[in-house]
Amino acid sequence: MRRQNLALVLGSVAEHGPLSRADVAARIGLTRAAVSSLVVELAAAGLVVELGPAPNGRVGRPGNALVLSSQGPAGLGLEIGVEHLAACVVDLGGAVRAQARVAVVNRGRPAAEALAELTALAKGVLAEAGAAGLRPVGAVLAVPGLVDAASGRVVHAANLGWRDVALPRDLLGVPLGAENEANLGALAELWQGAGPADFVHVSAEAGIGAALVVDGGLFRGARGFAGELGHVPVHPDGKACACGARGCLEQYAGEQAVLAAAGMPVGPSDAPGAGPGDWVALLADRASGGAEPVLAALEQAGGALGTALAGAVNLVDPESVVLGGAYAELGEWLLPAIRRELAARVTVRPWEPEGLVVSALGRRGPLLGAALVTVRRILADPGRLAAQSA
Ligand SMILES: [Zn+2]
Repeated sequence: MRRQNLALVLGSVAEHGPLSRADVAARIGLTRAAVSSLVVELAAAGLVVELGPAPNGRVGRPGNALVLSSQGPAGLGLEIGVEHLAACVVDLGGAVRAQARVAVVNRGRPAAEALAELTALAKGVLAEAGAAGLRPVGAVLAVPGLVDAASGRVVHAANLGWRDVALPRDLLGVPLGAENEANLGALAELWQGAGPADFVHVSAEAGIGAALVVDGGLFRGARGFAGELGHVPVHPDGKACACGARGCLEQYAGEQAVLAAAGMPVGPSDAPGAGPGDWVALLADRASGGAEPVLAALEQAGGALGTALAGAVNLVDPESVVLGGAYAELGEWLLPAIRRELAARVTVRPWEPEGLVVSALGRRGPLLGAALVTVRRILADPGRLAAQSA
């Protein structure tokens, strides 16, 4: 009961703060005395602080305007992408307080080597966060592949060349978990972006990732592998795919496919450990310049995406479809063809153009989502942290 009440108090401060103790009591239906005792516990755990009296003495009574602490417990987000590594720390309010990113080819690189470089990157970010008074109590690693979140194992990450990689359960003293990057991108959209309670999130890095948010939470499927939109067939007798099937979406709207169709050098020639080019920026740049092959390649990718997404929409009837990751930056050229296919193929209801949304988070989504997982856990059950610091 007390743990639930701690979460209620912290939740109302997170959502509506600054609030006085009396405001909190009125919002959650507890007595002021009960709220005060809970606030003492939350403050001792470093989760809330009391602002001093406002200068004019009118806004908030002295010493009792509660806000989330901008120091203390925080979340560490980590990301191993096919062509980058990244780390960031977010505070309880969800603000990014320290971050670092390095462009490096991880495709075909030994997992241990990529993890060692990521650890060094995280060390710098943790030092920066520590200097600001932040103490990450959990870390989540975003991986572009199938992740068994419970055991912390990467089952298969085709674009990294990883199969059955066991991740450490701890990184620099911070407990470490792992999650599929597309899931984390969708969660970031849910928590900080434009995502409603039910949406399909589709994103691209080297592969295509999708995630289904249902009732304000991830739909994971029976084994946790839901969302493999990249291997939904769009041309059943089409091009052979690395997965063994034919005509998968990834063969028409994935990085390699788009670059090849655009007549641009294809990624895997990059050596592992080297600094890659930014293919998304390059495509956007050439498309802006009106390069015909690039425009045609993006139109073809949009058409294939729209075909696959129409299937998803017919199946689950989401409130919206969110275009995230690299797709967000290419939205201008992908959207017309996606809209055309959705309008032609969605039959469960008339498809409205505003149902297709471009993520404002773009490629930052998965890393931000990874860091926010810990913050959301703290907000959902502050009692666990309070017990540890007592
Ligand atoms: Zn496939």
